[in-house]
Amino acid sequence: MSLSEITARITKAEAAANRPAGSVKLIAVSKVQPDARVEAVLSEGHRLFGENRVQEAAGKWPGFRERFDGTEVHLIGPLQTNKARQAFELFDAIHTLDRMKLATAFARLAQEMGHCPEVFVQVNTGEEPQKAGVLPAEADSFIAECRARDLPVVGLMCIPPVDEEPSLHFALLAKIAARNGLTGLSMGMSGDFESAIALGATHVRVGSAIFGARAYEL
Ligand SMILES: *Cc1c(COP(=O)(O)O)cnc(C)c1O
Repeated sequence: MSLSEITARITKAEAAANRPAGSVKLIAVSKVQPDARVEAVLSEGHRLFGENRVQEAAGKWPGFRERFDGTEVHLIGPLQTNKARQAFELFDAIHTLDRMKLATAFARLAQEMGHCPEVFVQVNTGEEPQKAGVLPAEADSFIAECRARDLPVVGLMCIPPVDEEPSLHFALLAKIAARNGLTGLSMGMSGDFESAIALGATHVRVGSAIFGARAYEL
């Protein structure tokens, strides 16, 4: 599938949900993709990308940013505390704030560096032991603690369990966001972004449907 087909499907899903055209941002997830494929999508005019590893992004994006004005890169994968500084230098937004230790590190870096990427709190909506994210029951207090540290929390992010109906998780994430006064919802991937849009997604993270299959999974 091509970038234009995906953006057309997003426009259609926005309309079907009675949402304004352009209210959903497409994050093209470029992890593991060869530079040539990423460059092709940049050349088509797309400027918002997602990566899930700091190291990989560090190798790829400073060069592309120099050549393609207005490029924005979001971190959508887990972040080790000792890589937070590098993440602040590389990313415009971080979708995976999932623990207090990392929030504390962000607050310290924000003070020191004088800026902070926009932050999404990752919620483990499926309460899966192997998955990152704060538990739904802990989300309200976690968000409050982040705000107390002056972090620019703009929304929530989730990755539904592979074997469950994603809509239930999207609806739960939307509910937690609404009761906390958060408007950003990072949810929906190649297989389910339309249902995420129906449930209020503001950022969909689409990789393989744009770039083709990844050579290997991270
Ligand atoms: C890889 C990845 C995606 C994109 O997945 P596709 O199925 O290729 O669209 C979205 N979100 C996260 C967190 C990812 O790691």
